[in-house]
Amino acid sequence: MALVTLDGLVDVESASLGLFDSNPNRVFERWDEFREWAAGVAPGGQQFSDQSLGAPSPCPRQVFAIGLNYADHAAESGVAVPLDPLTFTKFPSSITGPNQSLRLPSGNVDWEAELVVVIGRSAKDVRAADAWSHVAGFTVGQDFSERVVQMQGSAPQFSLGKSFPGFGPTGPALVTVDELPDPGNLKIECVINGEIMQSSSTSNLVFSVPELISRLSAVCELLPGDLIFSGTPGGVGVSRKPMRYLIPGDQVVTSIEGIGEIRQVCVDGQR
Ligand code: ZN
Repeated sequence: MALVTLDGLVDVESASLGLFDSNPNRVFERWDEFREWAAGVAPGGQQFSDQSLGAPSPCPRQVFAIGLNYADHAAESGVAVPLDPLTFTKFPSSITGPNQSLRLPSGNVDWEAELVVVIGRSAKDVRAADAWSHVAGFTVGQDFSERVVQMQGSAPQFSLGKSFPGFGPTGPALVTVDELPDPGNLKIECVINGEIMQSSSTSNLVFSVPELISRLSAVCELLPGDLIFSGTPGGVGVSRKPMRYLIPGDQVVTSIEGIGEIRQVCVDGQR
């Protein structure tokens, strides 16, 4: 695990003389203590390649994902905005870093640019007004979705259709909320082969991040390192005319203002 400073990366385990572990999930368990230590770290100069980056939270115990959480995406899907967050999971084995290639298991894979919340402090029965103190930070995510598995079998299978290997790339870094000028208003985009497919702002979320934490924590205890994929804006492939899905060679770039971008090149993964 590395801390990003103005001049490069600092390896957390060696810089802290072993006080903090190289496993990010153990660091999330002691997030407040880590923030305090990190504030005093001198800028480091260690450079890195994008390819070397892993997921900010590589082994979350729970991954929540929210469907239809932007009004324009609900409209293009032909359904009303839900009165409660439509919640499913991406199984944790689908989570990868920011720059891996994406193996396409079929010709029915779609894109969904999403703001991903990383939980810092455990949360149970948290009010929206208190929710920010439970957030470690944000990262960029893609909720890749195999639409036939998700929607066209004998029963909808949201969680399976969105959990093929590599379907949950995240990164390039975890950015703490205080580093963002307005965490409730960040530009979010998905660009494929240079063409803008999705362009919106997180200010258009139907259920805001604090509201999602409140609603989810009313049922589940949210644990350090858990992820919440907060939903995608309009512009997905299944709703386009003509419909469009990813093909080998497509390059998918997903970005969020103030956080950065992740990049997947699609390859044929059909067996
Ligand atoms: Zn999604």
